[in-house]
Amino acid sequence: MTVVQAPPRVSVAQLRAGVRRRLGRAGTGADIEARMLLGHVLGMDAGSVPLHDERVVTAGELAAVEALVARREAGEPVARLLGRQEFWGLDLELGPDTLVPRPDTETVVEAALRGVAARSWTGRAITILDLGVGSGAILLALLSELPQAFGIGADRAPGAALVARRNAMRFGLASRCGLVVGDWDESLSGRVDVIVSNPPYIRAEDIAGLDIEVREHDPILALDGGGDGFDGHRAVLGAARRLLAPEGLALVEVGFDQAAALAGMAERLGWAVRLHPDLRGVSRVVELARR
Ligand code: GLN
Repeated sequence: MTVVQAPPRVSVAQLRAGVRRRLGRAGTGADIEARMLLGHVLGMDAGSVPLHDERVVTAGELAAVEALVARREAGEPVARLLGRQEFWGLDLELGPDTLVPRPDTETVVEAALRGVAARSWTGRAITILDLGVGSGAILLALLSELPQAFGIGADRAPGAALVARRNAMRFGLASRCGLVVGDWDESLSGRVDVIVSNPPYIRAEDIAGLDIEVREHDPILALDGGGDGFDGHRAVLGAARRLLAPEGLALVEVGFDQAAALAGMAERLGWAVRLHPDLRGVSRVVELARR
């Protein structure tokens, strides 16, 4: 006589509770993260997962969830596990060469839209250049809001430009978005109306002290701002001097303690400067216009 042991029947609810417990020990936003990971494996959005609590999961699904939870416990951000992150209402695909877009960076988009509106450019065919375009977060958010605008995204990492290209296609923006691989503006000439950038701005010596989620999972090229952290900002200042139209504006993200220093640098170079706070009230974006 053979005894066949039935595999354990695990429901979505049981699996969800188990994942939540494990992630809770890892000190993360356990409930929402459990739903996001399960939703990813089960092919549904996070909010719908509890509606399927009665369902029994397959062995394959169980193994897939287990693998994701183990990676999460080892410090990999949920956005990396899912390969996507929402930004400005856009569901962006990510890649190994792109940052996970941060909510703070929406301040760049807001400031740019305000500057564009102040110039009555909202319905105009303006050109927007994004230096270090990454996944396309900032540029595609702007193109989604400005139906006549044309975007150029530059990135040193070919992998990032490819992801940005795919995102542009996903959102139906590809015909208004050119992507170039190179050291930002080196191959560009002519005039652009708006420059946006979230350059790498972490001081090289501070990188080792960043959270594991950033240090081990965001690309170093997108973080490392050189010895004083301002290498990327200096490159943006140079590009702005060369390419920005007379009435144009540039919006540059800075680290939490960098706004005053960049503002000083820009003023000495002759720029008119304004600062924009993020949701926590930290000066997060430096706006430049020609004087
Ligand atoms: N905002 C990112 C962080 O602090 C850094 C991104 C950047 O260098 N532009 O993790």
